[in-house]
Amino acid sequence: MAVHYSLVIPIYNEEAVIPELYRRVKGVMDQLDGTTELILVNDGSRDRSLPMLRELQQQNPDQVRYLSLARNFGHQVAVTAGLNFAQGQAVVVLDADLQDPPELILDMVAQWHQGYEVVYAQRISREKESWFKRGMAYGFYRILRQLADVDIPADTGDFCLMDHKVVAVLNAMPERNRYIRGLRAWIGFRQTAVTFQRPPRYAGTVKYTFRKSLSLAINSLVSFSRVPLRMATYLGILSGLLSLVMGLLVLYWRLFQPNTLITGFAAITIAMFFLGSVQLISLGILGEYIGRIYEEVKGRPLYTLGEVGGVDAPAVTRCP
Ligand code: UDP
Ligand code: MG
Repeated sequence: MAVHYSLVIPIYNEEAVIPELYRRVKGVMDQLDGTTELILVNDGSRDRSLPMLRELQQQNPDQVRYLSLARNFGHQVAVTAGLNFAQGQAVVVLDADLQDPPELILDMVAQWHQGYEVVYAQRISREKESWFKRGMAYGFYRILRQLADVDIPADTGDFCLMDHKVVAVLNAMPERNRYIRGLRAWIGFRQTAVTFQRPPRYAGTVKYTFRKSLSLAINSLVSFSRVPLRMATYLGILSGLLSLVMGLLVLYWRLFQPNTLITGFAAITIAMFFLGSVQLISLGILGEYIGRIYEEVKGRPLYTLGEVGGVDAPAVTRCP
């Protein structure tokens, strides 16, 4: 039987929200105009999430499937795993914590019926998130839009509906640093937004630590822009010009104002530290890119599957 809709939800230590999540999602699934599968991806949770997923699958074996990754691989990889197994004509990705209201899926489906291949959710406000997080997110999306080669819409997360054509392209992309909202924009097709107010997390604590968010941000910049590399070049040119000016100044003093008292220590120390930092920053930027090349050429599988329910898993890993 063909599946019309797949809903993919990554789960990392979400025992506090799973019952309510299932209740809300089931309500939406019952309103959808076709057969639906729910793919829950356990991203190496350490709490009771996995047994709860097993239980849901036993309760509703026709609609619920789960994948359990062998350890915590991170949100983007968990979503990728879910997309690998999704069979629907349209595939929806949403967060487990109900910050992506499942009811919005109905609006997305309506747009999909209008002929859009990608319908992404764009938040017009965020409730109850710290000003620090809101500010960082606001600034970051705008910087990314300036620097990225593709047009990545601002204030969108991974909450979206994708046509199976788009999912097929996404699944065929071998890259390991998966910034899904960027890849999704890169793929193209007809894309549109539905807007919503982002509610606070239903229960539990935020699973994206500051470190994970920062790493996602750096990843997205490096994966979608070469501007940082060029910045290293510009920085080099700038410090070269500066040294030229300094050289001319010293020459001038020497020739025309031989009485100028030049005390060297401070100037030399500052110049040394300045040049050192320029070099180290450039090296660091270069390292970010080279490190990614290294990650890619190793060609390790993206994830390891520990256990599945309700799906046929031909192999325990996926090699791109
Ligand atoms: N998540 C995951 N693996 C991780 C971190 C988070 O699968 O290592 C999932 C988490 O269970 C949730 C989604 O990613 O479904 C978003 O996480 P969270 O709500 O904590 O972050 P936010 O996007 O709200 O900052
Ligand atoms: Mg959240």
